Amino acid sequence: MADQSVVIMGGGMAGLTAAALLSKRGLQVTLLEKEEKTGGYVTGFRRHGFYFDATGAFLAACKPGSEFHAIFRELGIAEDLDFLPIPAIRNIYPGFEIQLDYRNPAAYVDSLAQRFPPAREALAAYSRLTAKLGRQFLAFEKAPLWKKVLLPLLYPTLFRCARHSHGTILQRFFKGNQDIIHALSALPTTLPPSQLSYIFVAVLWAKVLRDGVFYPRGGMVQVTDTLRRVILAHGGKVQTDQEISLIKNRDNRVEAVLSRDGSRHEADWYIGAMNPIRGQALLAESMPLYSKVFDLQRYTVSPSALLFYVALNGEALPADWPYFVSLHTSEDAEMEAEAINRGIYKNGLHLVITTPSLLDPQLAPAGCHAMKILVHAPHASVFAEEFPDKADIDRLQAEIFAIIKEKTGLDAASHSLFTIRATPRTLLERTGNEEGAMYGFDSALGQVGPGRPPLATRLDNLLWIGHYNRPAHGIVGSALSGCFAANIISSK
Ligand SMILES: Cc1cc2nc3c(=O)[nH]c(=O)nc-3n(C[C@H](O)[C@H](O)[C@H](O)COP(=O)(O)OP(=O)(O)OC[C@H]3O[C@@H](n4cnc5c(N)ncnc54)[C@H](O)[C@@H]3O)c2cc1C
Repeated sequence: MADQSVVIMGGGMAGLTAAALLSKRGLQVTLLEKEEKTGGYVTGFRRHGFYFDATGAFLAACKPGSEFHAIFRELGIAEDLDFLPIPAIRNIYPGFEIQLDYRNPAAYVDSLAQRFPPAREALAAYSRLTAKLGRQFLAFEKAPLWKKVLLPLLYPTLFRCARHSHGTILQRFFKGNQDIIHALSALPTTLPPSQLSYIFVAVLWAKVLRDGVFYPRGGMVQVTDTLRRVILAHGGKVQTDQEISLIKNRDNRVEAVLSRDGSRHEADWYIGAMNPIRGQALLAESMPLYSKVFDLQRYTVSPSALLFYVALNGEALPADWPYFVSLHTSEDAEMEAEAINRGIYKNGLHLVITTPSLLDPQLAPAGCHAMKILVHAPHASVFAEEFPDKADIDRLQAEIFAIIKEKTGLDAASHSLFTIRATPRTLLERTGNEEGAMYGFDSALGQVGPGRPPLATRLDNLLWIGHYNRPAHGIVGSALSGCFAANIISSK
């Protein structure tokens, strides 16, 4: 195995994980990243003493016993990363507020039951079903084929619920109680309940809610920088400013990949770790990456984000301000999603304000805070149509900051030392994600679990990984896909 070589295209969470595991296992690894820095979405930057995460705000599955932690253990870096637990998340809706406790499913349900006492029994029943479905799905994924064939018999809950949206289940248990439905939709996803796969929610319960959410001390960049160090320490190569422009394929194999600067890279194995729709277009002999069942054109991609990085004078922070604040301005999760997809913010807005310097004071100068305001946004092309000029985005920024002040008392506009922003276009240009999608493919019905494109492509020595592929989206999902690809190659 040690004389096998692998070229990895893309240095985000997925590509870095695959590269780190394969170089630690002794393969000759070359990772090619188009930007000057690796990390993809999981990166950060410093300005005037403030550190800002470019995108993400939390990690799950960081405790011993989880798959994500197992990757760190194998790489020998479990002790190098310090995961700080994120306390309850403050959710603000029109007319009510709720602090949701993400430490485990019981704490989560209890925080909901305290806010909605008459729904306690329905919540307990919903929670039992969701937990059972999560367990059955995880067991089904690992089951041998003969057990999978007996799906209705061995996994009855999965069989019954596989085609349900989260909305169908919420209506069944909470019969039109909009407030509780909205509160139960406060999960890390951008889809409204009617489109969100219930299996996806159940897996989140089984994985994310299992033992809480965390923030890495020193910022998100610590995770990807640590992976990069592992690759280099084990003789792997990390080449930045290397944009792949052509994948030379012939007779069901990749022969080489070419970078925009003309350099050619050959290996036994190739791993695509970026947007597969773009990857498919880079094939020299044009062909679909997958069979018809996984036609990439039929998948929908998740919405994007508009980000404000605010260097805040600490005096502006209201008392008891928590690390994580989620703010919705619409009473209806479906209307909110429609408004976000069309960029009509007066009809609905969802934003997430995180203040990492509350957890790790080293991230901002004394007396100040590094804050990120993440506004869920339409696809890059729609955003550019709705907000074509800098002046339009300036106006939008002023409106958003005014809403935050009205709903929370935080006057970020008057108390910021400086504000930097990133639009869906920035996300698209930096990472090549389709339309600046936050999560690759949506977690919609038919697009999760076995519905998501597999790692193996139609080319024998090409695997594809990342948040468009299995097992799922997010930082942990992408890392796991990198781990699964490393396992496939190691086992050959
Ligand atoms: C605003 C925002 C907030 C988020 N918050 C969270 C969160 O709190 N928790 C969470 O778990 N997830 C979060 N996510 C999602 C998570 O960040 C992603 O799902 C995950 O990081 C995707 O990793 P990836 O490696 O699949 O893709 P990417 O990070 O997109 O990496 C792809 C890499 O490939 C490179 N590349 C592209 N084209 C080429 C080419 N032609 N040649 C060479 N290299 C190329 C790119 O430059 C990039 O580095 C968030 C995402 C966004 C946008």
